Amino acid sequence: MREDGAALPSTVPVAVIGAGTMGSGIALVAARAGHPVLLHDAAPGAIQRGLDGLRRDLDRLVEKGKMSTAERDAQLGRIQPLPNIDEIGPAGFVIEAIVEDFGVKRDLFRRIEAAVAPDAILSTNTSSLSVTALAAVLNRPERFLGVHFFNPAPILPLVEIVSGHVTAPSVAATAFATCLAFGKTPVHCRSTPGFIVNRVARPFYGETLRLIAEGAASPATLDAILREAGGFRMGPCELMDLIGHDVNYAVTRTVWELLFQDPRYKPSLVQKELVDSGQLGRKSGRGFYDYT
Ligand code: NAD
Repeated sequence: MREDGAALPSTVPVAVIGAGTMGSGIALVAARAGHPVLLHDAAPGAIQRGLDGLRRDLDRLVEKGKMSTAERDAQLGRIQPLPNIDEIGPAGFVIEAIVEDFGVKRDLFRRIEAAVAPDAILSTNTSSLSVTALAAVLNRPERFLGVHFFNPAPILPLVEIVSGHVTAPSVAATAFATCLAFGKTPVHCRSTPGFIVNRVARPFYGETLRLIAEGAASPATLDAILREAGGFRMGPCELMDLIGHDVNYAVTRTVWELLFQDPRYKPSLVQKELVDSGQLGRKSGRGFYDYT
């Protein structure tokens, strides 16, 4: 890690753990900035699915004349599959984007810390878990922070650089500068429940789910009102379908629990039903809307 807060050089390998919605996009962001990228996922076939999805996205840019085939091949060529997490050793910057579950992330970080160099920066893309509590599972918690991208990661510029209680300022400065070099707009924040965006956005989703539970209006009506009268680019139900109801529900539960069960943040049975039935949104083909 660099004391001056300069970006990590683009020769430093970035490891992205989790090749789902967020991880594959984050891998592309780092590869686009010239870094060699190691992409890992624990589920069989998931790394290849992530890579295939990126290729389809870049092929569309090539078809529209927005990218040359050479640039597409160069970006994809910088992303190498990492089937075995214990071979993560060369990575200087690790960005974790696996399931939003404290215990699973904790076990993963213990394994990662045992394999990487002592000065590698370890980060999580968690939407809501405590960065301070996750850092505490490490031998060197000062090198750990949240680097929170937004969905879709290759397109949305904002990244929250989340410092836990003991994150070294030099680590946060290096992550900030590196995200700038990724072409992003980083902001520093502290590890509070939901950080900034997910905290502010909770009532947006929460009140929408309450209105649906009360039978006030359909998801399509609520989305249309917020888009057309509220000026939002996407309505709340469309956005929850994009995020994934499993992820959104997990984030709400965490924020509610971290705020000592403040009723303003209470999770919704409407969303729990969607999760329980496997209607997770776009990624499963069905949520509030049908995508098949
Ligand atoms: P996802 O379900 O699309 O992908 C998660 C991937 O992690 C899956 O491919 C799964 O196989 C893999 N995985 C699970 N356990 C693993 C393990 N132990 N080791 C390696 N891989 C493992 O989820 P996502 O939407 O990409 O979310 C990932 C993280 O990013 C979560 O922490 C989430 O809160 C956060 N996040 C999500 C969004 C969003 O809009 N979806 C936005 C910002 C942050």
